[in-house]
Amino acid sequence: MNRFIKIQDSIFVEKCIVCGSRPVIQQAPGGKFIVRCKANADHYKTQPGLIDIDAWNKHNRKPDNGSDNIRHLKRG
Ligand SMILES: [Zn+2]
Repeated sequence: MNRFIKIQDSIFVEKCIVCGSRPVIQQAPGGKFIVRCKANADHYKTQPGLIDIDAWNKHNRKPDNGSDNIRHLKRG
């Protein structure tokens, strides 16, 4: 069973650090949710429970903090 819930575009999520896919939410047994890579759950998935986008973001954020500022400048 592979029914994914799309994460709204208005919600900021990091892309998968392995393949660059936007993550999706997968329903787990017991009314729980997993945030996982859309392409391959082996890349990363959160523990089943509440929708833990923070945990996903923390894992998939690139360690280079400096590029964050640059990204903001380029966006404008
Ligand atoms: Zn991936």
